[in-house]
Amino acid sequence: MKIKLAKSSGFCMGVRRAVEMALEAVHHRPGPIYSYGPLIHNPQAVELLNSKGLKVIESGRTDLDGINRGTVIIRAHGVPPQERRRLETLGLEVIDATCPRVIRVQAIIKKHTAQGYTPIIWGNPNHPEVVGLLGHADGRGLVIGGPEDVAGLPDLDRVILVAQTTQNQALFEGIVEAVKARWPEALIFNTICGATQRRQDDVRGLARQIEAMVVVGGHNSGNTTRLASIARDEGIRTFHVETDEELNPDQLAGVNTVGVTAGASTPNWMIKQVIRELERIGRKGDTSFRAVAHRFLRFLLLSNLYVALGAGALSLAAIMLQGIPVQIEYVGVAFFYVHAMHMLNLFMDKEASQFNDPDRARFLERHKTVLLGSGILSGLISLSLALVIGLKVFIFLALMSTLGLLYAVPLVPKSWSRWTRLRRLKDIPSSKTLFLSGGWALTLSLVPALAADHRIDQAAVLTALIIFLLVFIRSALGDIIEIQGDRVVGRETIPIIIGEQKTLSWLNAAVGFLTLALVGGWALLLLPSLALVLTACAAYAVFYLVLFRREQIIGSTFFEALIDANFILAGLLSWFWAGLV
Ligand code: SF4
Repeated sequence: MKIKLAKSSGFCMGVRRAVEMALEAVHHRPGPIYSYGPLIHNPQAVELLNSKGLKVIESGRTDLDGINRGTVIIRAHGVPPQERRRLETLGLEVIDATCPRVIRVQAIIKKHTAQGYTPIIWGNPNHPEVVGLLGHADGRGLVIGGPEDVAGLPDLDRVILVAQTTQNQALFEGIVEAVKARWPEALIFNTICGATQRRQDDVRGLARQIEAMVVVGGHNSGNTTRLASIARDEGIRTFHVETDEELNPDQLAGVNTVGVTAGASTPNWMIKQVIRELERIGRKGDTSFRAVAHRFLRFLLLSNLYVALGAGALSLAAIMLQGIPVQIEYVGVAFFYVHAMHMLNLFMDKEASQFNDPDRARFLERHKTVLLGSGILSGLISLSLALVIGLKVFIFLALMSTLGLLYAVPLVPKSWSRWTRLRRLKDIPSSKTLFLSGGWALTLSLVPALAADHRIDQAAVLTALIIFLLVFIRSALGDIIEIQGDRVVGRETIPIIIGEQKTLSWLNAAVGFLTLALVGGWALLLLPSLALVLTACAAYAVFYLVLFRREQIIGSTFFEALIDANFILAGLLSWFWAGLV
């Protein structure tokens, strides 16, 4: 089964902003922290936020006894100004996470109400956004659910028309016609949000290429339900699911191409989970070569054998770049060291996996003993190989392994949290990507150099830099993909600190530096001509960054494998190059 993900799906700007503000408050402010109404229309995400310490106050609740301290977050839908004042008088600190696009609609209503206009709001009268908008209309706002409601409105002098931001764009013209027919002078404001519009257009476009559509998101989410009804209107079999568990394999039997989209309040990890389940359903009972290859690839990825293979391949390039004769033990050290570190750290830091890669988390849980055992065994093998190579290499690798193992271990007592929130190495901002890239760079370039009693010369430094940049590009891109899960667990990765767009710019710069290091190293006669051949890896990195920007294959096994394939490419190119020279 081919899976096509809609270009725009998942968190919109407003929801993402509200969730980020809430998580920031949960991680860094003294409690209690409340959200005024469920922060987003997604029960699973709300439950998760709740487990992180975000309590929900039912919006509009008249009795707020006992709630008189702490912080309250106003969600993206906004609230009537009276409600906000009430929260402030209770002594709560208010964080206003109202979406800027909703604030704009509130401002339109407020301004025109003051000028004597009556606001007509097209939307659901019970939706919190509409309740909030009405609060800005000085008691004069009127809500319509469709063109048929216009006739029932009282006689009015001057009117304006606005829409709930998540309404169906295709129906807006009908509403305008009905309002204009009664009030030709009416002022019309199309306040349907661009994010909503884009998601709806994408669903229409995608519907032409698929046989069935899976819409992921809360059953209580208006915009998700609308996406499902748009897909149905396009004549496509549509399944609206909240989680992967609601997918029914029987209903999807015989479907060759399925589309996936998600509402503005659906977190990435839930979309990913649904994609993985669809992949599984699509290949169930399929014994074709493709299906078996896909299962095997998935196993290699989940068990970290794939990334270890990449490390082994990349170490081949590192050895040859330094002009050191290849010994299989050096490659073995890289393979087993990376496998051990990735595996053991996953077990020590399981929480992030639950959100970033639920499939991996389940796999780890199911095969805990074997996987943990394989991690320990790999660590022991890498150290034994290092000992066989020489004492210097053993001491170096033992040091690197200790650092790798200490990454997720609390080193500072909890009682010191008053003075520092950095208890583990992984709490250091950006440490995930920088430590990982640094660990690979040092191990892959220095093990052969130390083993061959090679001087730590310019070639060794350049090689370490090249490995660092290659791993950095892969790892920082992974941080962007995993940004929502990392936020939930309070991990400060590069994209969380500087933002996704800036991180992507850094990645482009890293590709530039990588090319410069390879070409410059060769031109200055510090590196062999293999450096020029390896510029193909820089080009490959550009290729997957472009694919990522197009956002068409995130979450799929294929994309994950595609990124790490760059290391295998480096190894293969080095191997061919060695055969040619
Ligand atoms: S759908 Fe648009 S208006 Fe609503 S929260 Fe998202 S970005 Fe803001």
